[in-house]
Amino acid sequence: MNASSIKPFRVGAEWRHASDETQILTSINPADGSVAGRVTRATPADVDAAVAVAWEAFHHQPWRHLRPDQRATTLYEIGRRLTAERESLARLQMIDSGKPWKECLHMVDAAAGHFRYYAAVCETWQNEVTSPRGEYFSMALAEPFGVVACITPWNSPIMNEAQKVAPALAAGNAVLVKPSEETPQLALELARICGEAGLPEGLVTALPGLGEDVGAALVRHPGVRMVSFTGGTETGRAIGAIAGQRLIPVGLELGGKSPHIVFDDADIERAVAGVASGIFGSAGQSCVAGSRLFVQRSIYKRFMDQLVTFTRELRVGLPDDANVQMGPLVSQGHRDKVAGYVDLARAEGGTVLIGGDRPRDARLERGSFYLPTIIDGLTNQARACREEIFGPVLVALPFDDEADVIAQGNDTPFGLAAGMWTGDYARAWRVGRALEAGSIWINTYKQSHIATPFGGFKDSGIGREKGLHGLRLYSQVKSMYFGMHAQPMGL
Ligand code: NDP
Repeated sequence: MNASSIKPFRVGAEWRHASDETQILTSINPADGSVAGRVTRATPADVDAAVAVAWEAFHHQPWRHLRPDQRATTLYEIGRRLTAERESLARLQMIDSGKPWKECLHMVDAAAGHFRYYAAVCETWQNEVTSPRGEYFSMALAEPFGVVACITPWNSPIMNEAQKVAPALAAGNAVLVKPSEETPQLALELARICGEAGLPEGLVTALPGLGEDVGAALVRHPGVRMVSFTGGTETGRAIGAIAGQRLIPVGLELGGKSPHIVFDDADIERAVAGVASGIFGSAGQSCVAGSRLFVQRSIYKRFMDQLVTFTRELRVGLPDDANVQMGPLVSQGHRDKVAGYVDLARAEGGTVLIGGDRPRDARLERGSFYLPTIIDGLTNQARACREEIFGPVLVALPFDDEADVIAQGNDTPFGLAAGMWTGDYARAWRVGRALEAGSIWINTYKQSHIATPFGGFKDSGIGREKGLHGLRLYSQVKSMYFGMHAQPMGL
């Protein structure tokens, strides 16, 4: 074992180093199967130690008692340092997750933006003063929970972590971050940068471990007072059940099977590009991927022909090629799962219009690549139409009218997002209000604004991140009454 190449993690002042092979998490570069990094693996015992250190920091460091504008200074500094290390962080992201270079740069920029935004929120946050109804005045204050656990998936490392850590810190909490075992490296970098920016020791600890032991230990730990989770619906349901038993709040950002709708009055060229980027961006490994396409029957054939032509032109390749539009899937195992869904769709009677295979390119042979795939001929009840595939696989179905597409669009357990292309904004309003989803895009798709709340309806989650809702998620409300009586109180 070459110990020098294995990254340690830090609990308070103490570095934890792997002492044998069983204590290592190995991140594989999905582009070529090489080792992207080796990281010391945390254990449930580390969770105990990290929770104790976090409580110590919460109680005995001034962080929670600082004025919000003072906290803002450190949050701005974290954002500045993320930007200063933009290229090296993006490179690490690229080998950890396989995302194309431009997307990796965007992830780091978005992470820095989260810290800047919540710094600004700290500068401007107002508690509420309620108008008196008696001889008192009352106010509602946002208070931190104490120690919160943030558990994140592999598809957008550093951005997913920043989306949780920035508001949790802004609210005055201490934070424990458990990144995905597939992409453990960026959370360690984020914790390092938080410390270097001046955040007191113990306020942010990254614990790179397995979900089944470290993640589960965090959720069950009596010292953890709130859990924020992004990941699959079944994991979220299990975490929610434990949190329910413990009566602690949870934020759950879960999976999706988002309907993407094209009406016959849409600008077809823009809709084709929007539908393709809505599913094939990030190789479909996006919770909000527009993975169920509904096209109005009168334009179905024409639209699908154009979409297939457009898809054929997409550039699949190595992530460090600046012209590449789609990189590999996160792992060989995940590619097998995606390919399994395509086989299932074939067995269910679907027709693969394009893709449905690995690219036949010697340079991509060692990576976990899969071609952009479009399937039609299924019903909305097929498993490929109901389950989240989380890969570059689009299922397409025709629809007749508004009522039909609203019924089909909502006929899913999920409710994360939906999109539509139409020239009629009155229709967009009607249909958008009727769709059961947390984000609706009209004549655009997958746009994301740090100040705009994000979260799911139905099996896609509980709670909202981003914007002011993001700060509220990591705060509990305390009401205070100040008596102003001139006379003794009567009974
Ligand atoms: P998982 O649910 O498998 O894992 C997410 C995180 O939870 C990982 O860190 C995982 O650790 C951990 N975990 C696993 N089991 C437990 C447990 N029992 N207790 C506590 N933690 C646990 O999801 P994926 O990582 O596969 O991510 C893909 C999913 O994430 C998709 O469904 C996608 O839609 C969803 N997602 C949702 C987003 C949203 O904002 N709504 C955004 C991005 C993704 P480990 O890695 O060790 O298994």
